[in-house]
Amino acid sequence: MEKGGQMEIWVFAEQRGGELHKVSLELLGKAKELASKGGRVTAVLPGHDVKAISRSLINHGADRVLLADDPRLGIYRIIPYSLLLGGMIQDHRPDIFLMGATAMGVELAPRVAAKVKTGLSAHCIDLSLDSQGRLLQVVPGWGGGVVATVSCPEHRPQMATVMPGAMKALPPKEREGEIFEVAVELPDENLGPEVIEITQEKPQGLPLEKAEVVVAGGWGIGSRENWQLIQELASLLGGAVGATRPPVDEGWALEGQMIGQSGKTIRPRLYIGIGISGVMHHVVGMEGSDHIIAINSDPNAEIFETADVIVVEDFKKIIPPLIREIKNRLKKQGSSD
Ligand SMILES: Cc1cc2nc3c(=O)[nH]c(=O)nc-3n(C[C@H](O)[C@H](O)[C@H](O)COP(=O)(O)OP(=O)(O)OC[C@H]3O[C@@H](n4cnc5c(N)ncnc54)[C@H](O)[C@@H]3O)c2cc1C
Repeated sequence: MEKGGQMEIWVFAEQRGGELHKVSLELLGKAKELASKGGRVTAVLPGHDVKAISRSLINHGADRVLLADDPRLGIYRIIPYSLLLGGMIQDHRPDIFLMGATAMGVELAPRVAAKVKTGLSAHCIDLSLDSQGRLLQVVPGWGGGVVATVSCPEHRPQMATVMPGAMKALPPKEREGEIFEVAVELPDENLGPEVIEITQEKPQGLPLEKAEVVVAGGWGIGSRENWQLIQELASLLGGAVGATRPPVDEGWALEGQMIGQSGKTIRPRLYIGIGISGVMHHVVGMEGSDHIIAINSDPNAEIFETADVIVVEDFKKIIPPLIREIKNRLKKQGSSD
C-alpha cells in the first residue's frame, strides 16, 4: 500500500466559483497529520481559471496540487467530475482519497468509489492510521449512539467523506509546494445536462457556522408557532437558529439550519438545545461547543450526557419568561445608556 515508504494522500479541493470550501482546508490539516510518518499530501483541484487557489492549498498543507483546468469543469457536474477523478485515481493510484461530506462530496464520492472499485466511509468524524498504516475511519452509527471505526484492508484508495467542521485547518503559512497541470481528457458528449444559470438562496440571519451563540430546537418544540420562540430567543442573544432533522422536515427550519451528521458541525461559545433528545446523529454536530445548555422535559434525555447545564422542564415554562427577562434587561440597559 505504500510506494517506497511514501504514502500518497489525496484531498479533493472543492471549490465553487473559485471559492474553496473550508472542509478542503480542514482535510489538508488532517492529511498532513496522517502523512507525518512518511507521506505526501496532494490536493486535487478541478475547475476553470482556479489556479490562484493552488497557493492557498499549499499554504494549508498540500505538498503538491494537481490542477485540472478545463471550461467543462467550471461549474460542478457529476459526470465530468467523476470521470476526471476516476481517471486520475486509476493513473496515480493514491493510498487514501478524502473528500468533504458536502452536497458535492456526498454525491460525487460514491460515484468515484464505484468507478475505481473501492469502498467508501461516509460522513466520518475522525481519521487515523493503525500500526500497519491502514486508515481507520470513525463514523457515527445508524441508530444513534454508536460510533464505529472501520477500515478497508483490501481495496485502494481508502476513501472517506468527512463532515465539515469535524477537523481543524492548519493556520496558513508560506510553504513550498509544486503545482502540476494535468491533462483533462473528457469525452466530447454525454457529460450530462448543461448548467444554464445558478441562483443562490439568500441566507437568513446570522450563518450558523459563524455564530457565537446557537439556539437549537428539536421535535419537542411541537409546532411552527412555538418555533417562533426559538427564533426570538436566538435573535435576542445575537445568535443563530439551529435545528434537528424533524423541524427541517416539518418546514419550521431550513435545511441549512440542521446540525449533525447530515447537517452542519458547529463549535459556538454557547449552544442551547431545546426539545432535543440528543441522538448521536445530532450530537456529532454540536458536541464541540464550548458551553452546552440542554432543556428537555425528560430527565433521562440523552442530550444531558453532553450538556454542561441541564434543565429538566417543559420549555414552554422556561423560554417565554426567559425571553421576557432578557427584554426587560435590554430595556433597562437601553434607558441607562
Ligand atoms: C443517516 C441519518 C442521518 C441523520 N442526520 C441527522 C442530522 O444531521 N441531524 C439531526 O438532528 N438528525 C439527524 N438524523 C435524525 C436523528 O436520528 C434523530 O431522529 C433526530 O436528531 C431527532 O431529533 P429530535 O431530538 O429533535 O427529536 P426526538 O428524538 O423526537 O426528541 C424530541 C425531544 O423533545 C423532548 N420534549 C418533548 N416535549 C418537550 C417540551 N415540551 N419541553 C422540553 N422538551 C420536550 C422529548 O423529551 C425528546 O427528548 C439522522 C438520521 C439518520 C438515519
